[in-house]
Amino acid sequence: MSVPAVVTPGVRASVPKRPIREIRAREQGTIIKDWGGRYPVALVYPNTYHLGMSNLGLQVLYGLLNHYGDIVAERVFLDLPESVESEKPLFYFPLIAFTLSYELDYLNIPAILKNGGVTLFATERGDDEPIVIAGGASVMANPAPVAPFFDVLCIGEAEVILPEALPILVSSLNREQKLKALANLPGIYVPLYWSGEPIKRQYLRDLEMFPAHSVVLTPDTEFGRLYLIEVERGCCFGCRFCLVRQAFSPMRFHSMESLLVQVKDGIGYRRRLGLIGPVVSNHPHIEDLLTCLLEMGAGFSLSSLRANSLTENLIKLIARGGARSLAIAPEAGSERLRQVINKGITEDDVLRSIDLAIRGDMRQIKLYFMIGLPTENDEDITSLINLSLKGLSLIGKQGSPCRLTLNIAPFIPKAGTPFQWLGMASPETLGRRLQMIKKALSGRGIQVRSDSIPWSRVQGLLSKGDSKLAYAIAEMSNVSLSSWQEAANKTGIDEQEVLKEWTTDKELPWRMVTQDNNFLVSELKCALGE
Ligand code: SF4
Repeated sequence: MSVPAVVTPGVRASVPKRPIREIRAREQGTIIKDWGGRYPVALVYPNTYHLGMSNLGLQVLYGLLNHYGDIVAERVFLDLPESVESEKPLFYFPLIAFTLSYELDYLNIPAILKNGGVTLFATERGDDEPIVIAGGASVMANPAPVAPFFDVLCIGEAEVILPEALPILVSSLNREQKLKALANLPGIYVPLYWSGEPIKRQYLRDLEMFPAHSVVLTPDTEFGRLYLIEVERGCCFGCRFCLVRQAFSPMRFHSMESLLVQVKDGIGYRRRLGLIGPVVSNHPHIEDLLTCLLEMGAGFSLSSLRANSLTENLIKLIARGGARSLAIAPEAGSERLRQVINKGITEDDVLRSIDLAIRGDMRQIKLYFMIGLPTENDEDITSLINLSLKGLSLIGKQGSPCRLTLNIAPFIPKAGTPFQWLGMASPETLGRRLQMIKKALSGRGIQVRSDSIPWSRVQGLLSKGDSKLAYAIAEMSNVSLSSWQEAANKTGIDEQEVLKEWTTDKELPWRMVTQDNNFLVSELKCALGE
């Protein structure tokens, strides 16, 4: 079977191609089980091995499924046509589970299923074909755009959904009986047998029951030198553009004791740890934890920091842990616009963080901004430029060799957030504002990186669209903008309609999942000053 040369646009492609046995030989922690008497599950990451192996969600699912004695779970990636463990194609597995956390990865679903010998649309699958299931943050918020590909979609966290779903899946019931039984479980959406009642997201109440960390280590991945450990899930802040609250609330923490046990295991594999969570700097014991890690001889990186929670001591600890780069996300340039999005950090917080980073001997500071945010105007862009220049001036004043980099992404309204009804700025507006930023900063020694505007609009469609999107995805001959445009035209996708502002009484494509509309509407009104 041929492997399609498609990866999600905008992401780095793969490491040099190796035979699967060599890939496996470079791994530590691979779980190889005999298939005899066991139920095989293919765990699919819809992008390259190189990207997928740094995804903690995939690693956790792999460990979780293989924890069951009667299940054998094997990994499949876009660029590996057969499973890593036993080199079997997808159609050998009675259950295929996709982990989807990024909308543009949806575009790779047809290639994976077709190359695996599995019928693309759920309604056309025969009785003897695998059951194809999906979960992940973007699916929890809006399963509609991919629903036609899947028999089952999980609305919630695997740790609580799997224990109820697996006995049905492994049973001797036929396909129809299994799907009907699954449709009655909490947190499960079976498009074919949906009752019409919105599905309530399921979440793990006690995070401590399931420590989440790397299971398979390989040098052939983005974070190949790190052992990843989840320190928290959910977020207590209410940024109005952000999906984390809808997909992962409430905020929960792993305790110091449990984290230290995982660290002891982890440093047996890697001397550096990647601490993962939406706002790691706000873990209640973060400074104590980092101090302990240093005493144990471990280095570390933190996946996320919040500008107003950085202290001098925390930066010192992070620097001693070996980090030389610090990322801060002001998201918007002006105080006014940060209030609209409820970011909760001030210009002083951002500049103070830059100052601390310079004194902590960081070599790179990355600032993350969005453009096209609700109510944004050219003055907000001027403020963004001025804030960046103030940061640059702080670096200059201290004679630091630190480089300042800006990462600019178009705002994409996400289902489940207070901004879900809003539209996306036009490509012309986004392009013009991006040019303003580049023109003002690129010649000043600030590197400006930006996400593709056309691909961001495709991502916007996949975030807010309905099940028609799946038919457009299926029509694409390859993953390219021209192929997308052709497929969208052919299947009647009305880009303007999906990406324009909607009234709050519109029936939403994601009506199959519960959400607190009153809260979302009141937050939207608050943002818009109504
Ligand atoms: S942007 Fe960060 S701080 Fe804000 S809600 Fe999302 S995860 Fe939390």
